[in-house]
Amino acid sequence: MSFFEVHDPVFGAYVLGNAPVKRLATGFDWVEGPVWFGDLGCLLFSDIPSNRILRWTEDGVTTFRSPSDYANGHTRDRQGRLVSCEHGTRRVTRTEWDGTVTVIADSYQGKPLNSPNDVIAAPDGAVWFTDPHYGIGTDYEGFKAAQELPCQVYRVDPSGRVDAVISDMACPNGLAFSPDGTRLYVADTGRMFHSDPQHIKVFDMVDGKPVNGRIFHTVSPGCADGIRCDSDGNLWSSAADGVHCIAPDGHLMGKILVPELVSNICFGGRAKHRLFITATTSVYSVILNRRGVQWP
Ligand code: MG
Repeated sequence: MSFFEVHDPVFGAYVLGNAPVKRLATGFDWVEGPVWFGDLGCLLFSDIPSNRILRWTEDGVTTFRSPSDYANGHTRDRQGRLVSCEHGTRRVTRTEWDGTVTVIADSYQGKPLNSPNDVIAAPDGAVWFTDPHYGIGTDYEGFKAAQELPCQVYRVDPSGRVDAVISDMACPNGLAFSPDGTRLYVADTGRMFHSDPQHIKVFDMVDGKPVNGRIFHTVSPGCADGIRCDSDGNLWSSAADGVHCIAPDGHLMGKILVPELVSNICFGGRAKHRLFITATTSVYSVILNRRGVQWP
């Protein structure tokens, strides 16, 4: 069987015929938020319903944190520390070098966040995260709650200041900066109006602010959740049938076919050319002829 679908001949050089899509581990409830720790040779990822952050290595899967406060997306900040979105506590946290956990955002203008979903580190050291309502709409252990803030994208300055930076999306979800930091991509898994497609938006970064937001690409089947850029500026997105590779001009170049619905992705491995994929009950990986950017 083929693990790939080529839509642009250029994509044929991005994939390797002898590198299969491998299922690394399975049996989870719903996995999300992969983040690679090359220094530890491990992948951390969330199993949200089972309230755990798990650690995959070549030797198998162990528990990293349980309970995880229903953590979802993760990244590493510019100092390499783990930054996590937590649904249960409606906050974004940073795990310090000594293992203590610091809250870096849990409210805005005096109101609790909804349920932080995904997070990335910006070139200037800030942390950006999305705050749709999915977590508080899910009755994990009774923490279903009323929404007090619109679904927005926030920026946490290195000083700790929290600002809402995008407020005109229905349900902002995955996000990624282009390798040169001049563009921000944000997946919208909601719809402002019923006729709207779920889409990925692109913003130009001008003076540190996202401007000129416009529709970049509409993923089908399914919709984009987690997204990541490679070092050439192509955007890789989750989809219902696998992972789609989208060129900087917005056209679909090709697909990695995965037998389960994909939630999130990240690049890892020593050469940053191994794509890790969280998909429903399993974690997969595939070696590509592309590299991820230095910072996830
Ligand atoms: Mg997400």
